[in-house]
Amino acid sequence: MLLKFTCPWCKCEKLELIKKNVCLTYKILELNTSEDFVYDSPLIDGNEMLGFGDIVGTWCSKCHTFLLGEDRTPLIDQEDIKDWIQDNCPQE
Ligand SMILES: [Zn+2]
Repeated sequence: MLLKFTCPWCKCEKLELIKKNVCLTYKILELNTSEDFVYDSPLIDGNEMLGFGDIVGTWCSKCHTFLLGEDRTPLIDQEDIKDWIQDNCPQE
């Protein structure tokens, strides 16, 4: 069953997973003496993004309000996030 997130504060319908301690790697495309080096777009841990870093929490992508548990800390576990959405967002 698909769950629908609707932010109770701003009505945005998009969630974002926030991580810290993620290593970004930029290939240096051009070295020169007079200007800034030219970098490629970043690779995130070799592009294996989801397996790396530490989850900080999940927030609304518009108002950046974290989904919080009963202890007022951001929800990290997917099962807790599913429960939160079912309790706080109208489903069809
Ligand atoms: Zn919001």
